[in-house]
Amino acid sequence: MADIIKLLPDHVANQIAAGEVVQRPASVVKELLENAIDAGASTIKLIVKDAGKTLIQIIDDGKGMSDTDARMSFERHATSKITTADDLFNLNTKGFRGEALASIAAVAHVELKTRPEGAEVGTRIEIEGSKINAQEVCATPKGTSLSVKNLFFNIPARRNFLKSNSVELRHVIDEFQRVSLAHPDIAFAMYHNEGELFQLPQGNLKQRIVAIFGGKTNEKLVPVQEETDILTINGFVVKPEFSKKTRGEQFFFVNDRFIKSAYLNHAVTAAFDGLLPERARASYFLYLKVDPSTIDINIHPTKTEIKFDDEHALYAMLRSTIKHSLGQFSIAPVLDFNRDSELDTPYDYKNKGIVTPKIEVDRTFNPFENVAPPKRGAQRPEFEKPSAAGWENMYEGMESQATAVSTMTFEKEVSTPDMFESGLNGAMQNISTSPSQDESSTYQLNNKYIVSTIKSGMVIIDQHRAHQRVLYEEFLRNITVKESVSQQLLFPLTLAYSTTELALIEELKAGLENTGFIFGTISGDILEINGIPTSITESQVPVVIDQLLSDLENEVPDSGFSQTDTLAKSMAKSLAVKGGVSLDNMSREHLVNSLFACKEPSISPTNRKTFVTMTSEDLERKFK
Ligand code: ADP
Ligand code: MG
Repeated sequence: MADIIKLLPDHVANQIAAGEVVQRPASVVKELLENAIDAGASTIKLIVKDAGKTLIQIIDDGKGMSDTDARMSFERHATSKITTADDLFNLNTKGFRGEALASIAAVAHVELKTRPEGAEVGTRIEIEGSKINAQEVCATPKGTSLSVKNLFFNIPARRNFLKSNSVELRHVIDEFQRVSLAHPDIAFAMYHNEGELFQLPQGNLKQRIVAIFGGKTNEKLVPVQEETDILTINGFVVKPEFSKKTRGEQFFFVNDRFIKSAYLNHAVTAAFDGLLPERARASYFLYLKVDPSTIDINIHPTKTEIKFDDEHALYAMLRSTIKHSLGQFSIAPVLDFNRDSELDTPYDYKNKGIVTPKIEVDRTFNPFENVAPPKRGAQRPEFEKPSAAGWENMYEGMESQATAVSTMTFEKEVSTPDMFESGLNGAMQNISTSPSQDESSTYQLNNKYIVSTIKSGMVIIDQHRAHQRVLYEEFLRNITVKESVSQQLLFPLTLAYSTTELALIEELKAGLENTGFIFGTISGDILEINGIPTSITESQVPVVIDQLLSDLENEVPDSGFSQTDTLAKSMAKSLAVKGGVSLDNMSREHLVNSLFACKEPSISPTNRKTFVTMTSEDLERKFK
C-alpha cells in the first residue's frame, strides 16, 4: 500500500490552531492587548468597528519589532518570550505560545506597522489568510499598530456562527476591562464605531475601577489587603448592600492575569455569608500574587483557568482576609448611617421635583392570607423610598421582580391587570375587577396553573410560561412590523448606566424603539427615555432594561441567534406574570385565549412546555 500520511501545509495547520485561539473578536482583542503589554507599552488604544467583526486595531507605544522580527512574529511557535521549557515555570509575560499572530493572520486580513526605538523607519506587513501580500518600509510612530479586518473572511461557517453585534461587543468590552483592570499603570482607550467608550488614564487601582465603572463606585468599595509567605492579596470588595442579583462584577487576577475560579469565588462568597441579600452575588476586584512556580497557567489555551499548588490554603486565606475587611469597615447594613441616599433610587428621580408622599394603609391587608384580592381603589404613591432602617425591604421588590423600587409586597396584584391590558391589546381595560367565580370555565391552581376544559378533556397551563409566549410573539411582531404604540412620558425618565451598559443599549436601540421606546439624549452616564411601550409601566422600565443587559451578558444559550429574538424573549421574561400571582376570571380566560391564538402555543420562548393535557381516557384510566 502506498504511504498516505502527509504533513499539513502551514496555512492549514494555522487555521486549525486558530480554531483554538481565535473563537470570536474578543479573543483577538485579548491576544493583541496582551502582546502590547508584553511589549512594555505605556499607552494602548483599541479601535473596534461592528463589534470587531469589521475591524480590530490596537496601537501601542511599546518596544516595536525589527524588520525580521516583524516577519517572524507571524510564524507558528514563534515567540520572543520563552526559550526553554523551564521558562514556562517562571513566566512574567502574558504570551508564551507564539501562536496568536499566526492564528489571527490565518483567518483575517492583517496589517502590521511597527518601529523599534531608535530605528529610522518602520516595517509594514500585509498578510491575508497566512499569505504575505506586502512587506515594505514605512513611516510609523515608535511602537506597533496591528489591524485585523474581516475576521473569519475565509471560514464562512465561523463567521456566521458569530453572535449579534451587541453580544460580541459585550465580550470585547469584557476582555478590555479585564486587561485594563489588571494594569492600572498603563493608559488605555477604547473606541467603537468612532465613539469613545473608555478613556482610562494611568492611575492606581481604585482610580482605574472608578474610571471603568463610574463615579459612584468609589464609595462602594471596601479595601482588602493581606500579605503572607505564599500569597499577597490586594484589591476591593463591593459593600454587600450594593451587590447585584443578576450582574455581579467579579474579577480575580493572579499575577496580573485575569482568571476564573469557581473555587476561589466560593471562598469570597463564604466570607460574605449572612451579609448578602438572598440570591445576590458579591462583587469584587481581587489581585492575588503568588510565586509563578506554584501555579500552572498552561492548562487552558485561552488561559483563564489556572491550577494552584495549594488551593486549600489560598481558599482559607482569601476567606478570612475578606471577612476581616468586611468586619473592619463595619459593613453590617443597619449600622451604615453614611449611606448615600441618592443611591437608593435606581435612577435620577430627583429631577421630577418633590412630591409629598401620600401613604394609605391597606386596612384589609391580611398577611396570613396567601394573596389578597386585587384592590383597584387604593391609590398608592408610585415610589416609596426605603428607610435606612428597613434595608431588608429594599430587596423585597427585587425578589418579586415586580419593580426594583417597590417596597410594597402587594404591588404584584396591582400590576396584574395592567399587564394584561397591554399584553392583550387593551381589550381588558374596562373589565370588572370582581368577576363572579361561578361563571368561570377556568380555575387557578396554587396561583400558578390555570385549569380549563377542552373538548377532549382538560388542559393545565403554566401561567408564567403561557404569558411569556403571548408577550414574546407580540413583541416579535412589534419589532419586525414596527407598528408598536408608545406612551409619551410627561417627564422624561433618566436612568444611570455604566459606559458598557450604555454601549449595549445603543446597539439595541433600533430594536427597542420598535417595541415602543423613545430615547432622548445620552449624556455622560445618563440615559433619557421620553416614551415607553404601552405594554409596560414606568416603574418596570429599569427591570426590563436590567434583565435585557443581563440576558445579553449571560447569553442564554438557546436564544443567541438574533438580536430581535433576544430582545423579545428578554422583555417577555421580565414582564410575564409570575407564578404566585392570583389572576381573576377575565385575566385567566384572556390568557388562555391569547395563548391558543399564538403561532406556537405549546412551548414557552425558552422551549419549555406551556401546558399539559389530560384526556377523558386518561381520566377514565385513573378511575379504574
Ligand atoms: P506570544 O505572545 O505567545 O509570544 P504572539 O503570536 O502573540 O506570541 O506574538 C509573537 C511575537 O511577536 C511575540 O513573542 C513578540 O516578540 C512579537 N510581538 C507581537 N506583538 C507585539 C507588539 N505589539 N509589540 C512588539 N512585539 C510584538
Ligand atoms: Mg501573544
